[in-house]
Amino acid sequence: MPRKVIIIGGVAGGASCAARLRRNDESAEISIIERGEHISFANCGLPYHLSGAIPDYQDLLIHTPESFRSRFNVTVRVRHEALEIHREKKTVLIRDLKLDRTSEEPYDQLVLSPGASSLKIPFEGNQLPAVYNLRNIPDLQSIMKAISCGAKRALIVGCGYIGLEVAENLVRAGLSVFMVETASQVLSNLDPEMAVIVRNLMSGKIKLCLSDRIRKAEQNGSGLLLTLESGRQIGVDLVIVGAGVVPESMLAASCGLKLGIRNSIVVDAFLRTSDPDIYAVGDAVEIENAVDGTRVCLPLAGPANRQGRIAADNICGAERKYSGTLGTAITRFFELTVASCGLNEKCLKNSGIDFTKVYTHALSHAGYYPGAGSLSLKLLFCRADGKLLGAQILGTDGVDKRMDVLAAMIKFKKTVFDLTELELSYAPPYSSAKDPVNLAGYAAENMLRGIVRVAYPEEIDLHISDGGIVLDVRSQEEISAGAIPGSIHIPLPELRSKMAQLPSGKPIIINCQTGLRSYIACRILSQHGLDVRNLSGGYKTYKFYKQSSEP
Ligand code: FAD
Repeated sequence: MPRKVIIIGGVAGGASCAARLRRNDESAEISIIERGEHISFANCGLPYHLSGAIPDYQDLLIHTPESFRSRFNVTVRVRHEALEIHREKKTVLIRDLKLDRTSEEPYDQLVLSPGASSLKIPFEGNQLPAVYNLRNIPDLQSIMKAISCGAKRALIVGCGYIGLEVAENLVRAGLSVFMVETASQVLSNLDPEMAVIVRNLMSGKIKLCLSDRIRKAEQNGSGLLLTLESGRQIGVDLVIVGAGVVPESMLAASCGLKLGIRNSIVVDAFLRTSDPDIYAVGDAVEIENAVDGTRVCLPLAGPANRQGRIAADNICGAERKYSGTLGTAITRFFELTVASCGLNEKCLKNSGIDFTKVYTHALSHAGYYPGAGSLSLKLLFCRADGKLLGAQILGTDGVDKRMDVLAAMIKFKKTVFDLTELELSYAPPYSSAKDPVNLAGYAAENMLRGIVRVAYPEEIDLHISDGGIVLDVRSQEEISAGAIPGSIHIPLPELRSKMAQLPSGKPIIINCQTGLRSYIACRILSQHGLDVRNLSGGYKTYKFYKQSSEP
């Protein structure tokens, strides 16, 4: 008898699972049940149609039900909803939404890939027609219709990756855009001193209200009058809610499958739910964080696709384990690329892991070759053994490849010492003989091997109030553009001759612009017996740190 597999949800995880199943087993009876009109569409591409960067929304349809059917010989039922799972009979009750008819289908194995739904934000007026989500093609078409009917002002709720992508694309489409965010920073997967680089870029492009939320939306002529918790009032034509997602686990819950954090579906390492004949993948499941082993929900397309593939293999008798998720993410925001992987400092503090960090601001490629930009990189690692725990990078050029190198290194549990050993591709338009990833490794290695002691921006105020000195070794020109209050100034080239001017017996934190010249200064002074530390990331990171605490 051919095995009969039903897959609920036909987009990222579900379509990937169905395709792999067919490649594994030509005789299986495979059905996809999808509530929406489309399967296998590129939800990640939705924001880019708003600006016309992807001019035709049909390009987002990777497969139509017909093309999927003909390529994979899979029964695809769109506009069908799985209503109930009867585990004892191994059947699924399905409603045909077009004909309003139900039927009961048997399965040998069932795969749940129902995704996540937009978090409903509880504000008065959240049901008004001009309040949208962006999860699928019909949502996209509704927003496009509003724009073509003259919407000129938009408010986006939530400053995560998707919120920012939507905001940028609406600005490019000519709308004036407000964003409101309950947290005190944008992009909460970054640490605040890194996220502030994005916030700085918003200025003049997008109006941002942090630490605030919508209280009320009222119809006001053809537009909406929004009142925020702070009392601020904003007139807009549409609101797009992008404030996070919740796992679609109602179906799993109603048939008694075990649920975990935020009501996500609990699966084992083989992606089996608490019922061994039911697998679950994608945004709806709780998985292991590959860095610290905690259970998390990380709604990302790569993990959903990989999980779909692994579930298919396991259904066909393999014993493949899903090795956890790192949360590797990237987005473009105007000229900036923002990427992160692994745990941030906030998570590490909560987890109790003894970690430390370095900041670097290396050039994306050789400075003498046109177009190089600064890559602001934060590397988090174990204090004891240098094991990599997380990375955040922002810059205008070359962010993606550095993040992907670091993601691979974190995945395979490598250390900062391993970063110094990497031989990466180099020619002047692409990198430098010492790649920014190598340089971050050197900075961390120097610290862990005790070659230089390191200080951080958050320590400066206490250091000064305790009688410590901050020595700035930049040029006069750089200092004129801003310096740490109270710092004393000896440019690096003059340090050896002017060393005697430094007050003796006091601890010194040395800074330059990025941390490189101050490292050299630390090496000079420490070999003369002075108590010195290098300010990691230099004045640049100090400035970001200070800006991040400004409202
Ligand atoms: P989905 O792909 O959401 O598919 C779930 C499907 O199940 C839905 O179509 C739903 O209709 C269907 N369904 C649910 N319940 C039932 C039921 N009872 N019966 C029948 N059908 C049902 N991730 C990235 O990594 N990078 C990005 O750049 C990125 N950008 C994104 C941009 C947007 C606008 C959105 C919305 C998401 C983005 N994501 C991105 C997230 C990524 O798309 C998801 O992580 C991924 O699609 C999850 O796959 P999934 O199979 O779990 O769920």
